[in-house]
Amino acid sequence: MAALKGVWGKIARVNLSTGEVTVIEPPEEVYRKYLGGEALGLYYLFKEGIVDPSVDPLGPQNMIQFLVGPVTGAAPNARSVIVTKSAYNFLCVSTSGGRAAAELKFAGWDGIQVVGKAEKPVYIAVIDDKIEIRDASHVWGKNTEEAETILQKEVLSPLEQRESILRSADMPEKWAALHPAEKKGIGAKRLAAVWVIGPGGEKQVWYANVVTEGARAHGRYGAGAICGSKNLKAIVIRGTKGHPLADKARFLELTRTIQSSEKGDYFWRSYGTAGIGWMEANMTGGFPIRNWQWESWADPSTVLTLNGPFMDVASFVRKQACPGCALHCLYPTQITSAAPLMNGALTDMPDWEAMGMVGGNLGFLEMPGTTPDDPYTGTHWDRAEALAKNQFVTRLHDTYGLDYIEGGALLALLMELRQR
Ligand code: SF4
Repeated sequence: MAALKGVWGKIARVNLSTGEVTVIEPPEEVYRKYLGGEALGLYYLFKEGIVDPSVDPLGPQNMIQFLVGPVTGAAPNARSVIVTKSAYNFLCVSTSGGRAAAELKFAGWDGIQVVGKAEKPVYIAVIDDKIEIRDASHVWGKNTEEAETILQKEVLSPLEQRESILRSADMPEKWAALHPAEKKGIGAKRLAAVWVIGPGGEKQVWYANVVTEGARAHGRYGAGAICGSKNLKAIVIRGTKGHPLADKARFLELTRTIQSSEKGDYFWRSYGTAGIGWMEANMTGGFPIRNWQWESWADPSTVLTLNGPFMDVASFVRKQACPGCALHCLYPTQITSAAPLMNGALTDMPDWEAMGMVGGNLGFLEMPGTTPDDPYTGTHWDRAEALAKNQFVTRLHDTYGLDYIEGGALLALLMELRQR
């Protein structure tokens, strides 16, 4: 392809039935007309006739595509998109934050298309131009967190495998004792990024997600089920090629303007949707409570349990961002609870969807024996336990690789059926 900048001009196509890996080179006019990963993915889905209702979404003919756009990986944009036919037999276009998008870009690919079905569980390892289909039987059945931790150490670039460039003699004595220079670079350098499914995807649950970094998800539409139907546990990527931007200096100048405007948004940058969403939703009657039997609490103090500053006090919160993003919307959190099962578990601070669908919707907020029409009578510790339940159910969905919007709706329905 001509020297079109921002894209690499190639998409990897992995056929899990035959084990073949081929390279697709979309023409320049396709890149220009279908700008970005989402449009490019839809172009191929229509071109190959996969949108036809007769194509079984959970059959080998379906194609799942992991794509990035021209500026992915260059601050402040870092999202990837999955385009496939969803488990529900309509289009799935699902985006996610996380490092994997940038890593794919840095590996020199604009996307990966996966077709066919492997005979046994596999994962796809991408190290720059090299793509391999590898056995995944050792991680099949493991949750997303466990599998990601194992797999990211198995896909190392030459950078991670070479001896350290430092010699012990160059280092202070104490430091050299702690980090011997002879040690291979693993741990000292960047590990691979991983898109992975959990037991939910393996069992082809229709609302299974593809997860990365424990709590970021390509959610809704069941992209995880499509991976599961292909026996594909994960895609693990390590890229070292950088980014094919046309004018890096100009681009960075533009992104600095965006970042400086983002930096003024205190509540968003401090707590994400927990900084604002909880209050607005209650005021406007948009909070799901007990399977939408109520839409707000009469006593507005009830919902203080789910505000960002309270979460900060009740459970340790830190901030994490995709490469180059000044908004850092992921807030890893450690749960505090009197229940040993939940206490100390790591999760992320629930964002707006989780606060609603696996928080208020499951009846965690109001005190036993009261309804959302009553005044709130709980203490600080009651609030902390309610928050812990919200955080823990969020964690369960993330580790099983399930969508908590759909999962919360289903659980709330079951609870109301039992109630009635
Ligand atoms: S950290 Fe959050 S807001 Fe920033 S790019 Fe990633 S997903 Fe988007």
